[in-house]
Amino acid sequence: MLAYNECELAKIRTYKEVIDGFLPALKDYYENPESYNIEPFKIFGNLYYVGDKKVCMHLIDTNDGFILFDSGYSHNFKSLVDSVDKLGFRCEDIKYVIHSHGHFDHFGGGDRLRDLYGAKILMSETDTELLKEMPDRALMHLAPNKEDQICWPDETINDGDFIELGNTKIRCVSAPGHTLGTMAFFFEATDGVKNHKVGYLGGLGFLTIYKEFCRQYNLPENMNEELLFTVNKLRNEDVEITLGNHPGHNSLIAKREYMLHNKNTNPFINKNTWSILLSSVEEKCQDFAEKGY
Ligand SMILES: [Zn+2]
Repeated sequence: MLAYNECELAKIRTYKEVIDGFLPALKDYYENPESYNIEPFKIFGNLYYVGDKKVCMHLIDTNDGFILFDSGYSHNFKSLVDSVDKLGFRCEDIKYVIHSHGHFDHFGGGDRLRDLYGAKILMSETDTELLKEMPDRALMHLAPNKEDQICWPDETINDGDFIELGNTKIRCVSAPGHTLGTMAFFFEATDGVKNHKVGYLGGLGFLTIYKEFCRQYNLPENMNEELLFTVNKLRNEDVEITLGNHPGHNSLIAKREYMLHNKNTNPFINKNTWSILLSSVEEKCQDFAEKGY
């Protein structure tokens, strides 16, 4: 019997351990990205997964073109294009690419989606302004492609904005913590008969809330409190399908595996996952505060 936890967040280590381990942990992914590919799959109805084992990308079929959440690392762009293709869709039909926040591992394919296929790129105004002020905040120096550039949005989004296309209306909510301009998104996925409420938390890696990190990138040192504030703000959202932007956030790989072996159950549909995820984040934030990180 296959089992899975609702979410798996990384253990808390010292800032030095995290920084020293960052590139070695990604070495194999950088050198052999294709071995991290996942067959694209339907999460529910018109919502699909087109990311890999390291970073999430989600595609919504709105009946009037597609919306893509995040465009991944640039060195694995081919996997994204292949995934869209394997689902029988066309990158030319992606109308919007919504970047969850301003880090290189989430916007790496954005420029090519715009230049090759005509997609419009969206990102929060807050992260856009922060990157203009200090481009190092995009963490491009950690990217495997040294020619990578920041993907600047065609339009910026703010708290309370709606993005509408076809049958889909996405509510944008600011969710600071991972970056100050991280956004969460809420919308309904549909299979034409049933609808399910989707919540997507667009960034919760803990590297960026260490005080040392914040000092280095000239950010306020209370990012931990910002993240806690966000957790409390989002706690009462009614969410049936929880999405994250790294597969561990919602145990995506284990759930996909489960779904393959249990055709009649969909582990992505679970009203408890959202609060389990937020409680895990809250617990980590409390650990950070106790340790003084
Ligand atoms: Zn990030």
